[in-house]
Order: sequence, then C-alpha cells, then structure tokens
Amino acid sequence: MMAIPGSRSSSTTSTNKGTCSVCIKAVKWVPVLFILSIVVWSYYAFVVQLCIITIESTIQKVIYLVVYHLLFFMFIWAYFQTIFTNIGQVPSQFKLPEGELERLTHAETEEMQNAILERFSQNLPNRNRTINGNVRYCEKCKHVKPDRSHHCSVCGECVLKMDHHCPWVNNCVCFTNYKFFILFLGYALLYCLFISMTSVQYFITFWRGHRHSTEPLGGLEGMGRFHILFLFFVAVMFAISLASLFFYHIYLVSVNRTTLEAFRSPVFYHGPDRDGFNLGRRKNFMQVFGENPKLWLVPVFTTSVDGVIYPVRAQPPSSSYHTMENSQTSLGDGTAFDKRPSTEDMEELLYEINYEDE
Ligand SMILES: [Zn+2]
Ligand SMILES: [Zn+2]
Repeated sequence: MMAIPGSRSSSTTSTNKGTCSVCIKAVKWVPVLFILSIVVWSYYAFVVQLCIITIESTIQKVIYLVVYHLLFFMFIWAYFQTIFTNIGQVPSQFKLPEGELERLTHAETEEMQNAILERFSQNLPNRNRTINGNVRYCEKCKHVKPDRSHHCSVCGECVLKMDHHCPWVNNCVCFTNYKFFILFLGYALLYCLFISMTSVQYFITFWRGHRHSTEPLGGLEGMGRFHILFLFFVAVMFAISLASLFFYHIYLVSVNRTTLEAFRSPVFYHGPDRDGFNLGRRKNFMQVFGENPKLWLVPVFTTSVDGVIYPVRAQPPSSSYHTMENSQTSLGDGTAFDKRPSTEDMEELLYEINYEDE
C-alpha cells in the first residue's frame, strides 16, 4: 500500500492537537482539585483529629459532627452544582441565517453591516447596544448577543448573563448557575467560620503548650496538633477571602448587576446605565433566587427569568443618548421596556444604503 505524502505529518499534527487540548482541559481542573483536596484534608482534620481524637465530651462531639456534616453537605452540593451546571445556549433565533450571514460578510461598510443586524434583530427582545449604539453581534458565534450575554474566551461561546469565568469552579458563572455560586460562597463561608470557631480553643492550647513545653497539650499530641493548628489557619484565611466575595455578590444581586456590568455599565438605547436592570432589592433578589422562600437556600434552579429577556427599570425622562427618538412603555410597576427604532426608520436606512431584500 502506497503511503500518501504528508499524511503522516498531518495525522501527527492532529494527534498533537488532540493531546494538547486534552492537556489544557486537564490543567483547567487543577484549581478544582486543589480546592477538593483541601476540603478532603479539612474533613479528616476536623472529624478524625478534632472530634474523634481530641474532644472528650460525647455531647460536644455529636453536636459538632451534626452541624459540621450539615454544612459540609450543603457546601459540596452547591459547589458541584456550580461546577457541573451547563452554561446553557443562546437560543437559535439569535443565530443569523445563511443568507443574512452571507450579506453581512460581503457588506462593504460598517453602516451596511449595522443595518443588516438592525433589521435582523427587529424581532428579537434586545435592549442592550454597543457603546456606539449598534446591535451587539458576536463575530465568533455568528449571532446577535442576547441582553447581558458576553462571549467567554475560555468557554469559547457566548454565555447568557455572564458574570465571570471562575477557574475555581472551572466554569462560567452565569445565568444558569449564579444562584448556586452565591450559595456555594455562603455555605463555604459558614463552613470555614464553624471550623474556625470550634478549633480556636485547641489552637490557643497548642500555642500555650508550645511556649511552655512543660504544660500539657490538652490531648493534642504528635501530628494531631499540627493538623488542628493548620485547620484553624486555613479556615480563617479562606473565611476572610470568601466573606469579601460573598458580600460583594450579595451587593451585586441587590442592585441586579453582574461583575462585568459593575466594571462596564450595560448600554441601552438611552445610553450607558449601570442601574438599567435594577428593579428594587426585592425584585432583584427574586429574579435570581425565585419566588419560593423554601427553596432560596437550596441549590436547585429557581431563577425566575429565561436568561434572554430581562425587565428594565423606568428611565428618567431627561436621559438621552441615542439620536434615534426614544421613549418607553411602562408596565405600571416600575418595570419598563425601551422602544426600539421603528421599522420605518430601519427601512429608510436600508434603502439609503441600497440594501437588496430578497
Ligand atoms: Zn460568542
Ligand atoms: Zn467561561
């Protein structure tokens, strides 16, 4: 059988690429494995070294173990939900059909491209614009971006209500798992605080024993005391960083803003508006956590919006940004929707640039 010239090198290249992408995928799991190994070690240090070996009172052992396992279970549940929840997909109605895509690719000027996108997005529920007031379009995914979505370079696709890409969960924090992420931060914080508070007295005992070597160590011997010493240290360090992140995200939920929107305000027809989606604390909270209080603290999906359509707040009448005439339709409950440019405006614009409608 004759060898095809170049076939070996091309197959070697594709094998290399395959191996490379597997390596990159594996490396992305390193932070998650790091967190999990600390959690497994903390389980051993708390349950075995502190509760079983060190603590003498049976009642104290039982109370500590019950509370610990409850927090441990909720924390791991929320963490795994954040990691393994699919980031979802941009609905197909946002994807440009072949014909439109062809026209867009061959459009000679930016105005023509904008007009094609304006026309296509007439029936889409979009209110967000680019900073220049144009339709938001993803060159890589070839679709119009739904409101609050952004292209994640790590995930390689547009992500609905993208908050940020988190290496510690190897996933995008977004519309589908934002509630899980906040619960994960909250339960992890409680887990660390509980460990810190229950191990602090043994930590102090260790230091006293260390300074006065003749003093008894209250049951802490050999490696056990180092496990408990580090358990306290690690729990306090994680509690500090988790607390700042947790309270920051609670603030973001209260003003209905993603981390990305906190850095760069979303742009509407009337201009950039960092409070554009802010409907008041109660509505903002319910948008993420749902309307059933029994499920607020449970890491199951209860978010009350569809990930594509987000109500916007009523705008002050003086605000103006875009040259196109702009007003709003109010729902009467403080929720309002921007009016998009009329079809007549668009047809006029398309006519001016010799748009051929087939
Ligand atoms: Zn994209
Ligand atoms: Zn991502």
